[in-house]
Amino acid sequence: MLHLEFNSESENEGIARIVTSAYIMRFDPDMEEMEDVKTAVSEAVTNCIVHAYFDENGKIEMDISDKEQIVKIEITDHGIGIPDVKKAMEPMYTTKPEEERTGMGFSFMEAFMDEVHVYSKEGEGTKVIMTK
Ligand code: ATP
Ligand code: MG
Repeated sequence: MLHLEFNSESENEGIARIVTSAYIMRFDPDMEEMEDVKTAVSEAVTNCIVHAYFDENGKIEMDISDKEQIVKIEITDHGIGIPDVKKAMEPMYTTKPEEERTGMGFSFMEAFMDEVHVYSKEGEGTKVIMTK
């Protein structure tokens, strides 16, 4: 089990990826599995940085644990939250089209992980739980 807390600075997205790969290394994953999990983490963390907070001082938490070869990753922010999670998870839905966002982040997470659950409350924050 690993718990990490970091600020919503864009540089920290890369660190989250590296920590994830270091953690899952013990399961001797093939390259595809490794890339899948890293991409999913990258999308979830980028969402916290881009959408949840208005500056770089927001706190993002990452929890990684494993049980019987299944890795569980939780990414949590305490930012603005998502008013309609179901809608936000639709492919190509984005609230930031002007920033060249394509609205595919959640779709990638769902494609690359076995399970993705999103819990969010407006004004309180968002939690993404993914397993593989
Ligand atoms: P892309 O990921 O392709 O760059 P995107 O981030 O807009 O674009 P998704 O990652 O699928 O697309 O997210 C869809 C929408 O859900 C976002 O546009 C945003 O409105 C909302 N959202 C996602 N994550 C968060 C979050 N952590 N906090 C607040 N809103 C979020
Ligand atoms: Mg995104």
